Amino acid sequence: PALRVDVVTIFPDYLAPLDLSLIGKARADGILEVAVHDLREHAHDRHRSVDDTPYGGGAGMVMKPQPWAEALEAVVAKAGPTERPRLVVPGPGGAPFTQAMARELAQEPWLVFACGRYEGIDERVLDHAREDLGLEVSVVSLGDYVLNGGEVAVLAMVEAVARLVPGVIGNAASLVEESHEDGLLEYPVYTKPDPWRGRAVPEVLLSGNHAAIAAWRHEQRLARTAARRPDLLHPSLGDAGLEVRLAT
Ligand code: SAM
Repeated sequence: PALRVDVVTIFPDYLAPLDLSLIGKARADGILEVAVHDLREHAHDRHRSVDDTPYGGGAGMVMKPQPWAEALEAVVAKAGPTERPRLVVPGPGGAPFTQAMARELAQEPWLVFACGRYEGIDERVLDHAREDLGLEVSVVSLGDYVLNGGEVAVLAMVEAVARLVPGVIGNAASLVEESHEDGLLEYPVYTKPDPWRGRAVPEVLLSGNHAAIAAWRHEQRLARTAARRPDLLHPSLGDAGLEVRLAT
């Protein structure tokens, strides 16, 4: 496969959607290989417990290091002598997951995702993965909010990464003109019929004038970005930022 993905979780069923749609098809086509592992298979006490109370006190439970170490070792044991997967650990305190990071991860041949629950995973698991297993470890956040577990974050990340792997999306051109590919949001889109419930499609789109359509779409992208995501225009205040400033 072009990309191999392993996911370790206490809720394997949560990852079932990775069988559907374009990701499911890419798996069936052999472009993508996805394996989901149950962390509890590496918990050996009577209750198969994976969590314990936090040192230092505080609310909630922390995921124990031993099941995690065994689970990651079992995944890495499938590697060839020089192969090392990149370990992605979802967490609200991680680096933000962006389109740029999706592109970076799509270059990797093998990704392993470690889904935390409760108050997260004992920090020494990450040190063990880095120092003893030789993995590159990245803590990655889906956004500035708190989920109950890493599974939803993994669904989002795998979908964003996999669609960039060659062959997963039939029409590669559809990847180029998208929000977050060049710093601007996407223009509004329309399809038949026209009019619909009394609402007309913008006339320029029916004109057949490709230059006029491209100009209209560019304006729409600038206006939309300025209205919804001014932060995207601010950092560099390059051409796009200036144009919007002048126009408003
Ligand atoms: N106590 C942790 C903190 O404040 O950083 C939050 C733990 S959260 C309740 C449980 C798990 O959900 C995390 O270990 C992580 O796997 C996942 N998670 C929560 N929010 C996330 C986010 N924004 N991005 C990625 N993963 C997230």
